[in-house]
Amino acid sequence: MDGLPSALLPEVLDALSDPVIMVDGRKVVSFANAASLAAWPALTRGTPLSFTLRAPDLIDAIDHVLGAKANMSRGTITERSPVERLFEFQVVGLSPSANASPRTAPAAVLVFRDLTEARRLESMRVDFVANASHELRTPLASLLGFIETLQGPARNDPLAHSRFLDIMREQGRRMARLIDDLLSLSRVEMSEHRRPVDKVDFSALIRQIIDTLRPVAEERQVAFHLTLPDQPVNVIGDHDELMRVLENLIENGIKYGQTGQKLDVALQFREPNSDQPCECHFSVRDYGPGIPNEHLPRLTERFYRVDASASRETGGTGLGLAIVKHIVNRHRGRLIIESELGSGSTFHVYLPLYGIK
Ligand code: ADP
Repeated sequence: MDGLPSALLPEVLDALSDPVIMVDGRKVVSFANAASLAAWPALTRGTPLSFTLRAPDLIDAIDHVLGAKANMSRGTITERSPVERLFEFQVVGLSPSANASPRTAPAAVLVFRDLTEARRLESMRVDFVANASHELRTPLASLLGFIETLQGPARNDPLAHSRFLDIMREQGRRMARLIDDLLSLSRVEMSEHRRPVDKVDFSALIRQIIDTLRPVAEERQVAFHLTLPDQPVNVIGDHDELMRVLENLIENGIKYGQTGQKLDVALQFREPNSDQPCECHFSVRDYGPGIPNEHLPRLTERFYRVDASASRETGGTGLGLAIVKHIVNRHRGRLIIESELGSGSTFHVYLPLYGIK
């Protein structure tokens, strides 16, 4: 392989997405690539590295390499401000160049890898497993408790049998719902990067789901107010996933907005910049108690609930809005939640129309 022309080296290093810094024998910065300046804007050529990177482990590693105790040293540094960041670093000694002054010639190269995002994802995964196990363990513990009671103290009590079996069936259903939701969530997360391709009449879907949910709404004395265009509203979508979005949002409106006794469900074309509609706007507005502002940004997180016991009482898993958000993302749409305490909540979904680029 031909050697790399040294004049190109800075350009090549600037093209790397990982920070690369060179220091001389006095630990003064002799080169910093673009990624390192983006990570630490205060880095300046000709000033000691420790002015900007006050990380004892890094400085020790450089001393180790410069003192020729090792040709390479690795470690991690954690920064707390302005935001918490985690970097993995590697320090490698450079062989002295023949024509450079021994004091100022680059003596070590420092290569960093930003692990902040990977660490965040890892901790989300750990939280998720902990939450999912906790959610399953509660009904499971209750099931086991009732089985023991039926085998022991309530063995000959037929009244207790029927009461406990009802509760056990409900706990079993709860576990099944949770597993269904977890599977849906993982399926949609896996396919999120692949945009659906089918043509779906969103308006027809809404009519269908309203017919399905009408008995649930009537049972809770909630009346639907529908505003739908007469003509089809074709979106690029996955039929079953869009059904899921509608079902979750309308069911939530019925469950959590029950006291408002009505639910406005609307669909319209949206014409943002030109006469040509390019997306549709679906909304569900309930007149229930509303959601305090501080909860709004977190509602679509997995297992996030404003009131966990209210959610569980109504059979909620805390995953519905997380599923909705991922499906809407996969459809290249937007989900917007608005709510005012005391007046109710509106969930808006914007979806691109079929046949529009
Ligand atoms: P759940 O299974 O608990 O219903 P979701 O992900 O569908 O889970 O909703 C998360 C939380 O958001 C709910 O537990 C509830 O606290 C709140 N929420 C959702 N929709 C509404 C609504 N229309 N009005 C008030 N709160 C709502």
